[in-house]
Amino acid sequence: MIKFSSTTFLIILLLLSRLNSFSQVNYSELALTGRGDLELAGTQDKLQKEVFEAFKKMQQAALKDSISIKIASAYRSFDRQQEIWNRKYEAYISEELTPQEAIEKIIAYSTIPGTSRHHWGTDIDLIEEVVKLPERLLIEENYINNGIFSNFKKWMDKNSEKYGFYLVYDDTVNRRGFKYEPWHYSYKKLSYPMLKEFLKVDLIKLLQSVNLKGNKFITPVFLQKYTNENVLDINPKLK
Ligand SMILES: [Zn+2]
Repeated sequence: MIKFSSTTFLIILLLLSRLNSFSQVNYSELALTGRGDLELAGTQDKLQKEVFEAFKKMQQAALKDSISIKIASAYRSFDRQQEIWNRKYEAYISEELTPQEAIEKIIAYSTIPGTSRHHWGTDIDLIEEVVKLPERLLIEENYINNGIFSNFKKWMDKNSEKYGFYLVYDDTVNRRGFKYEPWHYSYKKLSYPMLKEFLKVDLIKLLQSVNLKGNKFITPVFLQKYTNENVLDINPKLK
């Protein structure tokens, strides 16, 4: 019989932890900010392959319970997020808001380009495929009480975490940052290490180097507050 000394035991533990760190994928700054260097699967709605496969499994399981899950939004590039930002910024400036007011108004609902979790290929906005879709899909009232997607939401509350998907912007009282988004789910196994890596990105440098309207008003102090509230004040299971 083999008898392990405590030193042997420690060495084995050390080796196992090394193995674990080897299996982690390193994401580049480009990948973390939606500017390429990320392998994606899918045609219209793109996600990382592992996320896509986990989603398919969840979708099939839901279908057995007569819930038809559909993706409303998956991967989004930096350029796409920048288009959204610039369009909103110009509209608010033409309504005579100051640059600071325009930026505050945009970030109530939209992310600063480069900071969206949709850049990672791990996050999805989901709806239920019902016979008659409402005009506005991603609004809270569709998902709560007897809303049109409330059966989907109840199923997700019970099952999504079994498939690796977690709500990001939950309805915890006093959570800051983005408002409650009962449609936005994240595949934790990949988004958790990506968030850790993302926090190392020099966002000021990135935002000053791109064609982003109002970027000179995005100061380090503003960005720190945004990071604390909009990036980090999320479902505690994801950070
Ligand atoms: Zn989303």
